[in-house]
Amino acid sequence: MKNDSKSESIDSFDELDLSPVMRSALKRAGFSKPSPIQGQLIPLALDGEDVIGQARTGTGKTASFAIPILEQLDSLDECRDPQAIIVVPTRELADQVARETERLAAGVETEIAVLSGGKNLNKQLRQLENGVQIVVGTPGRIHDHLQRRSLRTGSVWCVVMDEADRMLDIGFRPQIERILRKCPKDRQTLLLSATLPNGVRRLAESYMQDPLVIDCSKNDMAVETIEQHYFTVAQDRKSDLLDLVLEREKPEQTIIFCRTKRGTDRLYRQLSHRHPECGSMHGDMAQRERDRVLQRLRDGKLKILVATDVVGRGIDISTISHIINYDVPQDCDDYVHRVGRTGRMGRDGIAFTFIVPGEGEFLTNIERRINKELLRDQIEGFEAVAPPPVAKVEEEQVGPAKRKLNPMHRKVRRRR
Ligand code: ADP
Ligand code: MG
Repeated sequence: MKNDSKSESIDSFDELDLSPVMRSALKRAGFSKPSPIQGQLIPLALDGEDVIGQARTGTGKTASFAIPILEQLDSLDECRDPQAIIVVPTRELADQVARETERLAAGVETEIAVLSGGKNLNKQLRQLENGVQIVVGTPGRIHDHLQRRSLRTGSVWCVVMDEADRMLDIGFRPQIERILRKCPKDRQTLLLSATLPNGVRRLAESYMQDPLVIDCSKNDMAVETIEQHYFTVAQDRKSDLLDLVLEREKPEQTIIFCRTKRGTDRLYRQLSHRHPECGSMHGDMAQRERDRVLQRLRDGKLKILVATDVVGRGIDISTISHIINYDVPQDCDDYVHRVGRTGRMGRDGIAFTFIVPGEGEFLTNIERRINKELLRDQIEGFEAVAPPPVAKVEEEQVGPAKRKLNPMHRKVRRRR
């Protein structure tokens, strides 16, 4: 690894040479010191570098890109067209990222537009017409605005792809490519995620200029404060097991993940009879209902949310104590993200995964991915089915954090 003074992590926001207004916003937000990803990414982003940043779930990736963007934003008087575009995979995450950015913008008038599907298009059109500095949105709706020419990209100097591996997976890729092509070539591109498979990394690099890679998760993707267990159970006993787990654990708040929308509906119907503080969420529900459910979860009015992977990424609710994978995620990276809805910023969390006969392979893949074995759990009186064959977790060959420094160190683009 090439070493560079920049690769040293920063322990205090004071070392970052931030504006006084940003410092007071940080203080107000209760951020006393930068998280590792923030300490590393903020100085590079302020220098105009393209960065691929990998860091565990719940470690403050949002602020790591929001702070440098806000610090370098021209006022609305100087520029009425968007200067930064932040692309995220879900509508709820768009709202959350916009709110976190607003919070860090405290003290400076900042126009942020959320451009996501399922929301009133006319309102978005009016907002863009009136002048916007930062756009946060989902690929579909952003792309829509590009086609309508309501979103002008000529002044964009920073594009962020949060949950970058999801953004670049096959579903979103065509829209993402078009969005990136529309933005000026000399823009800055920042990519963030807790999981960045090598293929995605290589693909991402083709959209970027000599990106630097920051890897704060090293070879260990599992958040240490999350206890992770599994149960073996027959398919037709899952809901009985769930009742017992809920009874034993009495979670403060829990998300129960199901594989399909129909399965989510079914489980919600069953649970809601016994648990009045239960809600559900999946991609076929009306946006108003999705918003309402998530708000009730944030307000603590819902104790149980039954959901698909639509809430698997990015959602930050610190009171979520338990994650239950009622259906095992088939993609081991989805596991990392689902479980990462708990244990945020050093808090404790606990996760249970139900494994039915024949799913041992998924468990093995998860354990390989997080480089840690899930502990087998049992509930007294509940007959477990035979455990899947014990899988040996192989130490993955992971080198030191990769840092690719451009010898022709690119000129500082925005820093004044
Ligand atoms: P990630 O995107 O890495 O999953 P988030 O950006 O959602 O994490 O941040 C997780 C939580 O930590 C949020 O509630 C955020 O406000 C909070 N947070 C971020 N940075 C700091 C910090 N430096 N100090 C304290 N809390 C922070
Ligand atoms: Mg995030």
